[in-house]
Amino acid sequence: MRAVDIIIKKRDRLELTREEIEFFINGFTSGDIPDYQASAFAMAVALNGMTPRETTDLTLAMAHSGQMLDLSDVVDLAVDKHSSGGVGDKTSLAVLPIVAACGLPVGKMSGRGLGFSGGTLDKLESIPGYRVNLTTEEFKKQLRERGIVLTGQSLDLAPADGKLYSLRDVTGTVQSIPLIASSIMCKKLAAGAQAIVLDVKTGLGAFMKSLDEARVLANLMVDIGRLAGREVVALLSDMNQPLGCAVGNSLEVVEAIETLKGGGPADFREHCLHVCAQMLVLGKRAKNLEKARAMAEASIADGSAFYKFRMLVQAQGGDVSYVDDPSKFPRAKYIEVVEAPRSGSISQVQARSVGEAAVTLGAGRAKKSDPVDHAVGFVIHKKVGDKAEKGEALFTVHANDEARLAQAREAALAAHSFADDDVTPLPLFYT
Ligand code: URA
Repeated sequence: MRAVDIIIKKRDRLELTREEIEFFINGFTSGDIPDYQASAFAMAVALNGMTPRETTDLTLAMAHSGQMLDLSDVVDLAVDKHSSGGVGDKTSLAVLPIVAACGLPVGKMSGRGLGFSGGTLDKLESIPGYRVNLTTEEFKKQLRERGIVLTGQSLDLAPADGKLYSLRDVTGTVQSIPLIASSIMCKKLAAGAQAIVLDVKTGLGAFMKSLDEARVLANLMVDIGRLAGREVVALLSDMNQPLGCAVGNSLEVVEAIETLKGGGPADFREHCLHVCAQMLVLGKRAKNLEKARAMAEASIADGSAFYKFRMLVQAQGGDVSYVDDPSKFPRAKYIEVVEAPRSGSISQVQARSVGEAAVTLGAGRAKKSDPVDHAVGFVIHKKVGDKAEKGEALFTVHANDEARLAQAREAALAAHSFADDDVTPLPLFYT
């Protein structure tokens, strides 16, 4: 077989066999197939698509390109969650401790921010000392002993995806349903998940802008998981406006801590409780969603969810005094409250623009090697459907640089739209 013939076949819209897909992924992983051929392959797939069968074969080939973690000697049922990414999406920080407090052990490998969307690892690293590079042995030991792990993906899991993803990022081939589905699912399969809750975001601040596209992606990932013998549930959630109020690393950690203590924004709390309920049912800790939700609420009320988060931070070397007293997180130099320029109902808080403005402040990266400023970002005070009076606080900017502050303030202000009439709040989930 030759890589060029496989690229030509996909270019000509023909269906690839499993052997061809495996040959290509194996050759790419070993370095026999160079980046330029893999880039051409990715573009051919992005333009011409793949059948569900091809996508499943691609997923399995990438999952098997490295180590396949087996957690069967550690937990009775390994349940994982995945969000397709968004702005203000700090869900894992609250959901993992809640389900762990309900008796479902969870070990998750998360990623860093990508473009305008934040990443769980960057958020966790705002806690001094928190380690995100656990070895496989450390991962298993902590999962066995503490029932909760939140770390980075180890290098030997699905290395083909890591290599292909960095090419896709710079060749305009991120936006492709088969490539996104296989990229997400290969990591979940390689990380040993037997049951998976997928939180597929849709809207202006998501990879999938329309509900129809999000539904196609969700169904495809469910099918791939099932074909690979895993139980998968996919939720479709809104990402037109940021989730919760905080956008930016330590600001989001603080909001997650507040939520674990029974406070936090109503939409974020509700979103987390729904994801938790799905995980608890899938993990066979509750008979139905109602009972699961009651368990999750009880773990917040009795303090056990917060205690699990504290345990997680301590186990991974983080300074728990920051968890106990979030006012210890370094404050940005400039903290400016921006007022509503007019009265009315909020009709839009454009999530992508807010995410991009947060990157301008330094909360994310323009280049892979850029450092992240953990203190900067936004706190949104009004969400879609809320009423605002002219001069009322609309959002707060946390910045460490005056020029960036001015730029981000304007962008975030432009992200807000007002209407004279009442506006219906956005739904959290779609069916
Ligand atoms: N997240 C991933 O892991 N891969 C993609 O392709 C897109 C989002």
